[in-house]
Amino acid sequence: MFVLEERRETPVMGEYETVVLGGGPAGIAAAAASGRAGRSTILVERYGFLGGAGTAAGLANFCGLHAKVHGEHQQVVHGVCDDILSRLERLGGLSQPHAIFDDRVLAQAYDISAYKIAADELLLSAEVKLLFHAFAVAAVKLSKNEVEALIVETKSGRKAILGKRFIDCSGDADLAAWAGAPYEVGDGAGNMLYPSTMYRIGGVDPLKAGKAWEVIPKLMEEAAASGRRFPRKKPIVRPQPNATEWRANLTQIRNPDGSAVSGIDAEELAFGEVEGRRQVRDTFEFIRASAPGFERAHIADIAPQIGIRETRRLRGEYMLTEEDVLGCADFADAIGVNGWPVEEHVAGDVEFRFQKAPRGFNQLPYRMLVPLGVDNLLVAGRCASMTHGGQSAARVSGPCFVMGQAAGTAAHLSLLRDVKPGAIDVKVLQKQLEADGAWLG
Ligand SMILES: Cc1cc2nc3c(=O)[nH]c(=O)nc-3n(C[C@H](O)[C@H](O)[C@H](O)COP(=O)(O)OP(=O)(O)OC[C@H]3O[C@@H](n4cnc5c(N)ncnc54)[C@H](O)[C@@H]3O)c2cc1C
Repeated sequence: MFVLEERRETPVMGEYETVVLGGGPAGIAAAAASGRAGRSTILVERYGFLGGAGTAAGLANFCGLHAKVHGEHQQVVHGVCDDILSRLERLGGLSQPHAIFDDRVLAQAYDISAYKIAADELLLSAEVKLLFHAFAVAAVKLSKNEVEALIVETKSGRKAILGKRFIDCSGDADLAAWAGAPYEVGDGAGNMLYPSTMYRIGGVDPLKAGKAWEVIPKLMEEAAASGRRFPRKKPIVRPQPNATEWRANLTQIRNPDGSAVSGIDAEELAFGEVEGRRQVRDTFEFIRASAPGFERAHIADIAPQIGIRETRRLRGEYMLTEEDVLGCADFADAIGVNGWPVEEHVAGDVEFRFQKAPRGFNQLPYRMLVPLGVDNLLVAGRCASMTHGGQSAARVSGPCFVMGQAAGTAAHLSLLRDVKPGAIDVKVLQKQLEADGAWLG
């Protein structure tokens, strides 16, 4: 059943050389790179702050900035992300990297409020126009292959934002889908990575808690063996920069039929938020009752939104595969690297598959940002062109920063040469990325 809406004229609120949709790591890096190149740039974000899932879904932790390269831990993502890291450090909101998965790779915790401030400051310094509280809802096409405008709903009404280049960093490939670019959802058999609701625990006694990140999984395993039910195996409970506060990544949000709640289905999302908070309460009560150092703890924050790991993935000029990640593939059009292993959130568990080559990282090709059939669009971040297995690795923050910076720089170069982003000289892109501090591997 349908209702017919009235035709209407939508006011144009601005015209920009680069329009970036989404303020996660990909969108931050894309807008920063475009703005720094001198392009008039707007970033459209539905929330009132930047950081994407890193803030809105409460991740509080960077993965994928590092790799274990021939046995040595190394930061392998540089460029815009270095600027974020140094701003976080100055704000006192960054922990030292910590080893995980039996010392196979490093991750790095940050304070969520500090990340919001650091990202604001970074983008303002790049002269990016920030449009918060703007929900993108549609695209207007200039021709079959070209986007003319992004349509947003705001508190001051429905508006159109005109652009020459568009970069979809929505995580869900919203703009790419509206523009008619081909995409996939899930593993081809209807399975998406399962989402989680993240929360932070305050009032922990850090001395007493000690290495509770090792103790809590054991306590949960023992309890599960005696019949206690938990949302999933392999819980992650880790301290934040302020060691009285810990983040908890241990829920798994399923529909009543057991399938993953979909981040592009409004009713499933609504159900998932409530189910996520139910799991938060249940798992927190177990931790407080059983883990030393957590006796006087409280729930400091439940993330504003359910954490979505996978929805639409672009089918672009090249799809990064799981084999590329595990085999540490190289590409002639490399824009940076990914050192994160495959981390597949399956029903009730998380499956890890690690790089088979000692180098420990794969390169990311520029072609994974270039959609088929839409000429003035690039897609970066967790919705870029990857297979389900490839995305299970390269969806984390580090590679998303890489893709974003490359997309913002490519948008600039394509305007400079007046060619489609897909037709730029990749050697020039690579030179520019290196000049801007990126490491291509
Ligand atoms: C529970 C969970 C735990 C995770 N843990 C980690 C971790 O510890 N470390 C790590 O590095 N990664 C982790 N990840 C992976 C994480 O998703 C990625 O690192 C990263 O955030 C993806 O970046 P992105 O920029 O592609 O998209 P996102 O971070 O998802 O950002 C997309 C942005 O676009 C905005 N947006 C979307 N649609 C619209 C629209 N229509 N209009 C306006 N704005 C819109 C969103 O509000 C959001 O701000 C985790 C993911 C989940 C779900």
